[in-house]
Amino acid sequence: MGRARRCRFCHRPAEVVVRQANLPLCREHFISWFERRVERTIRRYRMLGPGERVLVAVSGGKDSLALLHALKSLSGPMGFEVSAVTLDLGIEGNSYSKLSVETASRAAKALGVEHIVVSIGDRYGFTLDEAVRVVRRPPCSLCGLIKRYALTDVARELGFDALATGHTLDDVARFLLSSYIFTSIRELVRQTPVVPPKLPGLPRLIKPFYESLEEHIRAYADFLGLNYMQDGCPYARTAPTDYFRAFLDEVEARSPGAKHTMVRGYIKHIRPALLASLGNKIEPIRPCSKCGLPSSGEVCAFCRLRERVLRALGKA
Ligand code: SF4
Ligand code: ZN
Ligand code: ZN
Repeated sequence: MGRARRCRFCHRPAEVVVRQANLPLCREHFISWFERRVERTIRRYRMLGPGERVLVAVSGGKDSLALLHALKSLSGPMGFEVSAVTLDLGIEGNSYSKLSVETASRAAKALGVEHIVVSIGDRYGFTLDEAVRVVRRPPCSLCGLIKRYALTDVARELGFDALATGHTLDDVARFLLSSYIFTSIRELVRQTPVVPPKLPGLPRLIKPFYESLEEHIRAYADFLGLNYMQDGCPYARTAPTDYFRAFLDEVEARSPGAKHTMVRGYIKHIRPALLASLGNKIEPIRPCSKCGLPSSGEVCAFCRLRERVLRALGKA
């Protein structure tokens, strides 16, 4: 047994060792190290500026509650304003949507943050459960399309400058690996920490956890005592097996910092080279003729899905 390590800053017993920096930290210094890192990501990629309003997508899970907390704590010093939004997707199994809304509401209230709840059923006329019943497509893929659309739609309506999601460094590394393996070049170039508005009047999409590891997000959430939902979505088991996760975790365990190096290398070197080689072959974006949100065709994917589901349900 080695000697217990002590916090680099205050010499109390360390509770976390940040492996890529060989940095032992106590609870309190870990929390401030973690928030400084998120602040650095926000500044590095110019995600938010003073006086801006950001809407944080909060599902009630660990990553989104940690994101809300971190952004709220940085909002004073960095001079931006934070609100939260939760989508009630209408997932009845395990009372998932109900618990998601309740968990997010409690967290927002505890932080004194405005919380907006949007029911997909009320706003668009159908729930995720209904879409899953009538469209033969994996539930998580339908859910991803609905969430991306509804969050942008709500942020646009309420005039937010930015929409923040809890995508982590691990999510980005997995996406890159899978895109390299399956040569999904067009999806690959779309992967950025900030997506500028595709049309005027839309929020920019930002990922403040772009450089934060899930293991650190979990430690941050646990040290703060955040009351997050454990995975409870009844559709989660239908997601494709995530074998990239185990592989990348193994790489990270052997070479601490590898995920970060991979993602930084992609942003600094690989993406610019891909963009240069794709030139003008990237599909132009135009407003959907039905809803006005960005689309690569005449009618956007969400409006096409909505029409199909409403027709199948006899509501159109
Ligand atoms: Fe949506 Fe799939 Fe997540 Fe459930 S597990 S909330 S269906 S993305
Ligand atoms: Zn300390
Ligand atoms: Zn549309």
